[in-house]
Amino acid sequence: MSLNEFEIIKNYFQPIEGSRSDVKMGIGDDAAVVLPPPGQRLVMAIDTLVAGIHFPQQTTPYDIGYKALAVNLSDLAAMGAEPSWVLLALTLPEADEAWLKKFCAGLNHLLHEYRLQLIGGDTTRGPLTITIQTCGFLPLDKGLFRNGAKPGDLIFVTGDLGDAGLALSFLQNQVSIPVSDQETILQRFNRPTPRVPEGLWLRDIASAAIDISDGLAADLGHVLQASGVGATLKLQDLPLSSVMKKTVNEQHAWELALTAGDDYELCFTIPATQRTYVERIFAEKFTTRCQCIGVIEEKLGLRLINPTGDFFQLSNKGYTHFG
Ligand code: ADP
Ligand code: MG
Repeated sequence: MSLNEFEIIKNYFQPIEGSRSDVKMGIGDDAAVVLPPPGQRLVMAIDTLVAGIHFPQQTTPYDIGYKALAVNLSDLAAMGAEPSWVLLALTLPEADEAWLKKFCAGLNHLLHEYRLQLIGGDTTRGPLTITIQTCGFLPLDKGLFRNGAKPGDLIFVTGDLGDAGLALSFLQNQVSIPVSDQETILQRFNRPTPRVPEGLWLRDIASAAIDISDGLAADLGHVLQASGVGATLKLQDLPLSSVMKKTVNEQHAWELALTAGDDYELCFTIPATQRTYVERIFAEKFTTRCQCIGVIEEKLGLRLINPTGDFFQLSNKGYTHFG
């Protein structure tokens, strides 16, 4: 027998609710009631994942649940915010209990990891679509914004770039990857790691930040535009995974790193004087490294320099809806 909307909520979403003391009313009434800590600003982000557009139809329900929350947390990380509450609007083609169970397990993984509470949502029938809203806190005088980059600042990214794009190319049969590396690279696509602790630390250091969802060139472009500056990147400094390096040639790797979406790494700028400090803290404190890839300049536009010192032209600039 198939479950109705209320049974789905009661059986699957109410049990994973959690118990934060700042949630005064969670799932079960007409709306949630929460109490932000005194002196903190509320930060909110929302993201929709549509089956077949934001993830391939064959994606496992666990990965869908995981990724839907991860991409939202990535937005809060890029603001330097501490995440707290989550709302979930779920549109399902059918009430498939096996699917729901795994979807909740994926979601739950990140809810637990970051001590978040699912405080409400909506459940409807239709083509598979997941919308998640995350809320978090930011002290009055802190935050990471796109508009603070200054000429002379250094540009950094966390992690490796282009792996998610490589995974997608693999799923679309455009590249082949050794069997022993397939799992690693698919994980990078299906289970991106939101750089939450890195964002929290960087809010005291970075002059600007953004998360890389549409490809470095496009997302750094937003920082440059918002800050009224330009930049030069050195292609040989783009961080590439070992799988990337052995799977495609250098040029192809740069294209993926610069234009393929879904990496969910952070791109941030810092005053040049902070370089060694930032590199040391990343090495000591975080699970991911950071890499200096270029410099902010007064001259507008994004310039890419290849190892021979020549300018490099991209064949495309990154993913845009309605593009
Ligand atoms: P209403 O009809 O008043 O909008 P619903 O029946 O949609 O109420 O929801 C009942 C409760 O269950 C609400 O607290 C709502 O936030 C919660 N809820 C509904 N769907 C979800 C979901 N997918 N995830 C989490 N909470 C949900
Ligand atoms: Mg409702």
